[in-house]
Amino acid sequence: MKTSILRIACCVIFLLMAGCASQAPISTPTAEPTRFSLPAETPTATFTPTASPTPTLTPSHTPTLPPSQTPTPIGEGRPQYHFNAALDFDAHTLQVAETILYTNQTENSLDSLVLVVDPNRRSDAFELESLVVDGYAVSATLLDGVRLEILLETPLKPNETISLEILYRLNIPPKQEGEVFGYLSYQINLVDWYPFVAPYQDGWIIHKPSGVGEHLVYETSDFDVELKVDGEEDDYLIAASAEGEKNATGTHYQLKKARNFVFSISPIFRSQTEASENARVTSFYFPDYEESGEAILEAAARAVSIYSQRYAPYPHEHLSVVQTELADGLECDGLVFMGTKFYDEYDGTLKNNLVSVGVHEISHQWWFGLVGNDQAMEPWLDESMALYSERIFYESVDPYPVTWWWHWRVTWFKPSGWVNTSIYDGYAFREYTDAVYLEGALFLEDLRYRIGEKAFNAFLRDYAATYTGKIASSDDFFKTLDRHTDEDYSDIVERYFKP
Ligand SMILES: [Zn+2]
Repeated sequence: MKTSILRIACCVIFLLMAGCASQAPISTPTAEPTRFSLPAETPTATFTPTASPTPTLTPSHTPTLPPSQTPTPIGEGRPQYHFNAALDFDAHTLQVAETILYTNQTENSLDSLVLVVDPNRRSDAFELESLVVDGYAVSATLLDGVRLEILLETPLKPNETISLEILYRLNIPPKQEGEVFGYLSYQINLVDWYPFVAPYQDGWIIHKPSGVGEHLVYETSDFDVELKVDGEEDDYLIAASAEGEKNATGTHYQLKKARNFVFSISPIFRSQTEASENARVTSFYFPDYEESGEAILEAAARAVSIYSQRYAPYPHEHLSVVQTELADGLECDGLVFMGTKFYDEYDGTLKNNLVSVGVHEISHQWWFGLVGNDQAMEPWLDESMALYSERIFYESVDPYPVTWWWHWRVTWFKPSGWVNTSIYDGYAFREYTDAVYLEGALFLEDLRYRIGEKAFNAFLRDYAATYTGKIASSDDFFKTLDRHTDEDYSDIVERYFKP
């Protein structure tokens, strides 16, 4: 459609705080339970309510380009992201030309678009060079927040598509402890490195970070990425959310129906790949970690097979498992990060954090990737399912280490708290994890025994199928559950969920 832009309003929303999705870890029971790395809390961070953006710009309406043709909605209306990106590894810079084709899939006319610019949490990391909306150049200044709101003169009607062309430069910051995004001398991790359109459900879903959990919510989108890395072609190994194809200028990637697209680039990576009927899985690890790198590869491939049978077929062709400096793991779509401490602790068996946390992260490909949820307000939907997926992994292997697993990951902590805790309920990390993850797993175990194996498994498959590509809510979870059982499980819900 031809949508002219009156003005761009930007507002300060978030300051500081944790990375895109700092996966909450669950420590081994062999040490103090407080030894998790936690993003520092920022109680003084200001938060401007999203309903009242603060215009900071003089309206600019300079049609330097003719309005583009109305783009044909493609990808069944999913947001379409195209990137042309050039990375200078040594200078820690990424020059990006991004195009977004956004189709209004809501039932309402939209009078603005809200973009999430997560790299802007770090000062001077994100430099916006130009923004063109449906052919009209507009000026915008992004302050030290992550919300970029574009007010549209002509509302975007349902099923209409708008194009955004964004040129920007990323000054990749040093990776901080507890975060994945950033550079180390031997690795650059690009997570939430681009502006993306926030999901819309009765309003834009954009949350502030908290001291615990994850705050970003993603709509299922299609990605087309050209990445050029400065230097000789074989100087670096690139781990990505999809397998790339090398061409004359760089590497081309495509990934459809995914929540996000991430990279990890390193000149010292080693890699091994295992192919199965479900997916090709590649483990990227550092020198001297070959045994652990192979072990997580084997566990990941096995987990993909188990979850493909139990939930839904793995939705992509490839999965990357990537070592980085972190005290835990982090799920992204098509790629998971795993902390070096797990590789260090690996003991040659299945009974350790490398495997248990590893398959937890893999299961997020279903409970986060395939079935989305609001990670800030209803984190139990993906985290209790991911933790319980560890149990499902272990019950599928021989010898049967499920009793060990319950002790190692859950009961040793003597958990308590409400499963339906949000990241804003003021819980410290340990209490938050106990409530959302551990009590969540206990809830699912009780539920499974109450409704029976057949109904439970049918429910899992139905839930995965029904909410593929969507953002599921707690109501959706229970609505699906009720299709598979007539048992009264209300006492279980009362025990675990705050009214
Ligand atoms: Zn998780």
